[in-house]
Amino acid sequence: MSSRKLQGIGVSPGLALAPAVVLEWRFPEVPDRSVPPAAVAGEIARLHEAVEAVASYLDGLRLRVLQSAGLEESRIFEAQILMVRDPDFLAGVEQLIRQNNLSAETAFEFKALELRVAFSNTTNLRMRERLADLSATQIRVLRHLMNRHDDDLAALREYPQVIIVAHELSPGLTVQLDRDRLAGLISEEGTRTSHAAILAHSLGIPAVMGVSDAVERITAGTMVLIDGQTGSIAVDPDRDELEAARVQQTRRHKLDLELEGAANQPATTPDGVTVTLMGNVDLPDEIELAARYGAQGVGLLRTEFMVVGRAQLPTEDEQLEYFRRIGAAFPNHPVVIRTYDLGGDKFPVAFEAPPEPNPFLGWRSIRVCLDRPEIFRPQVRAILRVAADRRIQVMLPLVTRVDEVEAAKAIFSEEAERLARAGVRAAAAVPIGVMVETPAAVVMADRLARVADFFSVGTNDLTQYTLAVDRGSAHLASRFTSHDPAVLRMLDQVARAGSEAGIPTSVCGEMASEPLSVLLLVGLGYHTLSVAPPALPRVKWLVRQVPASVCRTAAAMALEAPRADAVAAVLRAAAQDFVDKRLIDL
Ligand code: PEP
Ligand code: MG
Repeated sequence: MSSRKLQGIGVSPGLALAPAVVLEWRFPEVPDRSVPPAAVAGEIARLHEAVEAVASYLDGLRLRVLQSAGLEESRIFEAQILMVRDPDFLAGVEQLIRQNNLSAETAFEFKALELRVAFSNTTNLRMRERLADLSATQIRVLRHLMNRHDDDLAALREYPQVIIVAHELSPGLTVQLDRDRLAGLISEEGTRTSHAAILAHSLGIPAVMGVSDAVERITAGTMVLIDGQTGSIAVDPDRDELEAARVQQTRRHKLDLELEGAANQPATTPDGVTVTLMGNVDLPDEIELAARYGAQGVGLLRTEFMVVGRAQLPTEDEQLEYFRRIGAAFPNHPVVIRTYDLGGDKFPVAFEAPPEPNPFLGWRSIRVCLDRPEIFRPQVRAILRVAADRRIQVMLPLVTRVDEVEAAKAIFSEEAERLARAGVRAAAAVPIGVMVETPAAVVMADRLARVADFFSVGTNDLTQYTLAVDRGSAHLASRFTSHDPAVLRMLDQVARAGSEAGIPTSVCGEMASEPLSVLLLVGLGYHTLSVAPPALPRVKWLVRQVPASVCRTAAAMALEAPRADAVAAVLRAAAQDFVDKRLIDL
């Protein structure tokens, strides 16, 4: 492959052509400089002036994002402002200036590196995410002190549209990027199911992840062409590549228009099986697209994204307001609110958690909610209150035991009683479902079905835990496949357990957004799917083309297939006679 061509994993479809902005976030070279004792007070004043200048710059960003994206997303900057003004840290820097007669930047760098070492001595993901935020704010202060204003993100404003190139994109960084200017994303780490990728997909931003050495190989300012479908990248594309991309773009656009035409038609197979297609909502921006593409409600509301980037957890009333807004967008359909799925790779600043070597096997999701009533109960109350007027359902993430569901249900009942006693308008109860996303939940599905009102399969985590493959590891990406026979058996088992118990069973993981997998899921008996909003038209189109009988036969054959690639081949062959080839290639 020529050095202009790079290959990664296509995680969010779409073509994009724009100059690259490379986020390096390196500390500038700071010369060791001491000052005469008489200049110490001046250095301390310079330190505070720089801190306030950066805080005001961040506040400007906060206001801009507030106007363009909304309150929730603007709050990411509140946390950064708190970090930059951290009184303990600044007192340490002042002391160093005074005691050693150092310049403000020399002392600041010294303290920043000290803190960095303390942070980096952990492999903990939460610390890593915060370290990235912390470094970003510290670099800004250092650059200000050194009169260097070559801020990477400032380059975002130089071009009408850019492609961001980074080592790793955390969910936190992804939500704070300015969507109007963001043509695409490239990162060295990450896969199809890392949360930053899910966010990019939900927001319809073309993205390629798992690109080795991207930061080194792409020079800032160079034009880059990315295909978020195939994962291919051309740096400084030549005329032929641009022409090929233009042709491809026109083709895909035409197909998109055809697909969107089906948005308001029923999602019924040619042999009369109706599939309910709902939308996954991570950020408020997605509500409108989901509604426009005919989502029949929200099948997965990822509430933890309300917390990302905030200095404090959202209050009960703030949550209520958000839930009401979503309920109002889908007045005739259910909204399934997933209780906080904090932990794993989602460690917002407002969420204090002890460092752990294996966060995905650690204190996350329902475990956090049950242990920390002060986090969980306000959310429960907000849900019960919105449920007084809307069709609201609740689902619990990462369940592994029946007693977790019983404990959560008891909390819902207690809060409902308390609200009733206090005369607050609220529902007396809401349907409570279980997310089936661990092998334990699959094995215990028959018993869980006795305490759950419905099941929703989270195939991202289910694949990760079944195959023991980290969902975010670019290195293991080829091993992470929901078409693995082990995952297929699990999916079959859950569908059967749900139907034997007579409870609704759906899928809300990324599998439900992939056309070929949809065919498999329908064949296994899943007739409710919750889909990333941009994928709704193509999923609906597929449902309308392939008879359910064909899906069932394909699913039966897939269950017999020995390997993931054989499963994919079975599905491809089944789709071939009914579905436009362009859709399968998508
Ligand atoms: C899943 O695990 O499939 C899921 C839907 O939840 P999340 O991707 O938010 O972990
Ligand atoms: Mg999950």
